[in-house]
Amino acid sequence: MLASAAAVRKIAQREMSRNTLGGVRAMASLEQYSEFGKSLFTGAVADEYLKKHGASGDILNDPSWVKNHSDTVANAVFDWAIDNGANVYCHWFQPMASSGVRHGQSGQVQNIMLKFDSNNEIVQDFKGKTLIKGETDGSSYPNGGLRGTHEAGGYLAVDTSSPIFLRGDTIFIPSAFVSYYGAALDEKTPLLRANAALDKEASRLFGKLGLDVSSGVQTNIGLEQEIFLIPREEYYKRPDLQLTGRTLIGKNAPRGQEMCDHYMGPLSSATAALGCMQEIQDECYRLGIPLKTRHREVAPNQFEFAPLFGTNTTQIDQNLMVMQIIEEVAAKHGLAALLQEKPFNDVNGSGKHNNWSIATRDGVNVLDPEEFNAASGNDSAFPIVMAAIVAAIDEHGDLMRCAIASPGNDFRLGACEAPPAIVSTYLGDDMTKYMEAFMNGKSASYNPGKKTLDLGCREILPFEVPAEDRNRTSPFPYGGARFEFRAVGSAQNVSLVNTVLNTIAAEKFGEFADRIEAGEDAETVARDALKKHWKVIFNGDNYDEANQQMLTDSGVWRIDSGVEAIARLTADKNVALFEKMGVLTKDECAARQDVLHDHYAGTVEMEALTLVDMINQHIIPACKKSGVGPVADLEACVPKLKAGVAAIHAAETSNEKASLARVLRLETMIDIRETCDAAEEVVPAENWTLATYKELLFLDSHTVAGSQVDYFDE
Ligand code: ADP
Ligand code: MG
Repeated sequence: MLASAAAVRKIAQREMSRNTLGGVRAMASLEQYSEFGKSLFTGAVADEYLKKHGASGDILNDPSWVKNHSDTVANAVFDWAIDNGANVYCHWFQPMASSGVRHGQSGQVQNIMLKFDSNNEIVQDFKGKTLIKGETDGSSYPNGGLRGTHEAGGYLAVDTSSPIFLRGDTIFIPSAFVSYYGAALDEKTPLLRANAALDKEASRLFGKLGLDVSSGVQTNIGLEQEIFLIPREEYYKRPDLQLTGRTLIGKNAPRGQEMCDHYMGPLSSATAALGCMQEIQDECYRLGIPLKTRHREVAPNQFEFAPLFGTNTTQIDQNLMVMQIIEEVAAKHGLAALLQEKPFNDVNGSGKHNNWSIATRDGVNVLDPEEFNAASGNDSAFPIVMAAIVAAIDEHGDLMRCAIASPGNDFRLGACEAPPAIVSTYLGDDMTKYMEAFMNGKSASYNPGKKTLDLGCREILPFEVPAEDRNRTSPFPYGGARFEFRAVGSAQNVSLVNTVLNTIAAEKFGEFADRIEAGEDAETVARDALKKHWKVIFNGDNYDEANQQMLTDSGVWRIDSGVEAIARLTADKNVALFEKMGVLTKDECAARQDVLHDHYAGTVEMEALTLVDMINQHIIPACKKSGVGPVADLEACVPKLKAGVAAIHAAETSNEKASLARVLRLETMIDIRETCDAAEEVVPAENWTLATYKELLFLDSHTVAGSQVDYFDE
């Protein structure tokens, strides 16, 4: 029992005891948590340092500190940095289209916070001015034509919504990245604008429904991160994993996930994975990232982490660091972390469930019906807001699909592991009945059913469960107090996902508020919307093809091709939406679309060229050496790949390039893969020079004694 404070202290005092074999911590200690939050310049930490400079932590709550107190904050940050062993700073920003190959997905230039004065004494070189703004080259990042090389200015402005953090000798200042003319060149700027739109429009509507919105309205998210951990030595024998993050070829191992034996299985201490996950969590805690949950996922060698939820900018910043830390810590444990959505064929790919809720800043969750209705004193408050969200999903499902169109997600959506590219929402039976009654004019209070399970034995007492089941096949199920966007890809920066969710919700909230202000009754507005958009609610099995056809026929948004989904960014209705909500201008929509298409085409080009090398340098030689295999067919594959790449180069627009790339990847390369896998099937193991699925996917049965890094032996 760890319930008492004394018990907790006891663990805290316990030496970190660990079973050194395997680098696994055998017993809990609080040592690794004692530093929690010290690396974040916020709360009590910021307060302590700001007080030394005559201010208090409260000044950070008002973004205008950037204008009024920047020198004070800079001095406090400087002291805090030096006390914690850091003397370097950087503005830390998020260029567009960074998923895939950019380690950490962020940009930064690291500068020392010190200089020598005329007496050669070391003095502080970090001022308010330095802290709040940076300048960089805006043209060398994907910018969709917003910046030419001859007009390269890019500016970095501190994002006051996400705390400055410290890692190693460097402090990281979360920043927005824009062009000389203020156009968004990053992931963060549109998100912050969408947050502003949501705050404004939600406050208008919720206020009319009786809720105290004086603290403001925000969305909270929690990001479940799935990954693969594979032996690093084998990773070095896979140019495709090294250069593109996924296996372009590879015969299935005789064993995959057919027994579901990996899902939620014990985190074995016989492999390096457990020690690696522990160290990832330790490092995250040091950075103030509450990475609470760890478990195995469905595919062999697949794992998941989930943090406690919080505001979207902080969560996204932290998720980028989580992904970076995962890659770095894995290497220390002799492992390679794969963040990409579909590293292996025929076993599950990885997602990043984006749990999303809307709440006042002082904590009333409006997606929790009981909480919202009680706080507003209005039994219709929740169904009205729910109606607005249902309408937003139905109208703008194309943008939700667009936001998850990452190259790796091509292979994941629509199979049996991730929801199809049809954007419906699951509300569950109780909630659906409640909303239906509301739509039909019956105001009822929401009483979610509960049922009792009796297992029919003496030892386990009957217990209560919600009457509502879960739905894993819906792209956007409601789960009691939050929606869960399940179709999001594991490697994505989820800024665009949340930009879209907040913008489409904001627009509907604003539309409802306008109509109410014009004299319409709020319930009538909501009922109209529900009647019009009811078709988007679907509680059945989304994997079932007949259901998919039914949803498609009913007019629910369905865009199978990620490339086409990206092109929705410039559809008239969407440009109008983004402009009206002040999130993206028409030019910014066009630029972002080009960047995403170029990112797609670039990804495929790297994949195709890697495959050429693998065929020429590994597969053909292995076949020839062994005197087996489809050598002539393999030789014929190479010019097809090269022609595919040449056609991409020759195409005029980014959209055309991406469309050709998609065909090359999902048709030509899949056919070629079959030829390669047929070769692998017949070449003797000793002549096969690439790591096989068997070698890549089964840490549990491939443990080499002493191979685990003993990272606790200092
Ligand atoms: P499951 O796998 O059942 O969905 P997990 O515990 O793996 O649950 O992850 C759920 C995620 O959702 C966590 O990151 C959690 O913090 C987050 N979450 C829980 N409640 C909310 C909420 N109201 N708003 C946003 N995120 C939430
Ligand atoms: Mg989970």
